[in-house]
Amino acid sequence: MRVVVAGGAGFLGSHLADALATRGDDVVILDDLSSGNASNVAHLVAAGHEFHVCNVAEELPEIGAVDAVCNLASPASPPFYLAHPLETLAVGSEGTRRLLELANQNGARFLLASTSEVYGDPKEHPQRETYWGNVNPVGPRSVYDEAKRFAEALTIAHAGTKGTNACIVRIFNTYGPRLDPGDGRVVSNFVRQALEGSPLTVYGDGRQTRSFCYVDDEVRGLIALLDATERGPINIGNPEEFTMLELVDAVLEVTRSTSTVVFEPLPTDDPTRRCPDITLAKTLLGWEPTISLREGLERLVEYLRGVQGVGE
Ligand code: UDP
Repeated sequence: MRVVVAGGAGFLGSHLADALATRGDDVVILDDLSSGNASNVAHLVAAGHEFHVCNVAEELPEIGAVDAVCNLASPASPPFYLAHPLETLAVGSEGTRRLLELANQNGARFLLASTSEVYGDPKEHPQRETYWGNVNPVGPRSVYDEAKRFAEALTIAHAGTKGTNACIVRIFNTYGPRLDPGDGRVVSNFVRQALEGSPLTVYGDGRQTRSFCYVDDEVRGLIALLDATERGPINIGNPEEFTMLELVDAVLEVTRSTSTVVFEPLPTDDPTRRCPDITLAKTLLGWEPTISLREGLERLVEYLRGVQGVGE
């Protein structure tokens, strides 16, 4: 297959591109490098895969015939999308529209990378795909949450009116190698801080929860959905739920760090808990995660120490 990966130089996009290339697909990577990094895909370019630096919200390059289009183009780290609100809204809306058109013109399968953020600060727990969510439409996070909710609506409308072969995956917190140590997300921050011996910054009282999926598991789920005929939305995430204080313990144990903890203010509208119900992924795709938080953190720490020299 010839597969477009928009956002393909980012953390998750580059792992998806790798997995597609490994199974023999030709990958066309699109990325404006606003949060992605060309070094994430240098080995793919060297192996003959295409890479276009472009903002999909503005225009698409000449791409030719493709069999699938994966839309992972968006900032995903809260500090980053809060700093780029209009760009985040543009890529979720206009970027998604352009990529849907590209898929439609080619009769290609379209995969939208949506997010657990569509559930907002959820009143249903764990979150099933049928839950409509609890999002503040004018809060600071709305630039990301509503862009993704709009992208979902657009995808469903495109499939309904134009027959686009589209599907939607709702991605929960994902971590692993190539996560930018400076991107401000909790796993990046805690692991970097622990390796550097600086205090771990816990926002709020640290009792809020998240469910962390190792990137290899996440990518396996994305490809399972891409290869299926399901439309979704389907949650792909690890249903093991941790408080941020439990994450502190896990990170300190894996890094053998003696860092202390400092408490900082909770960001506005920070969801209090998040955990996917993955019944649909299990039954429709035969997918479930296999890598525990501890094992995943060990792999990430090994990568950061080795490749990035963090904490050396
Ligand atoms: N968080 C934290 N310390 C940090 C960064 C984040 O305690 O240095 C918290 C944040 O307030 C949230 C959780 O960790 O409750 C996950 O934040 P992240 O930015 O990784 O992603 P989110 O799930 O909020 O999109």
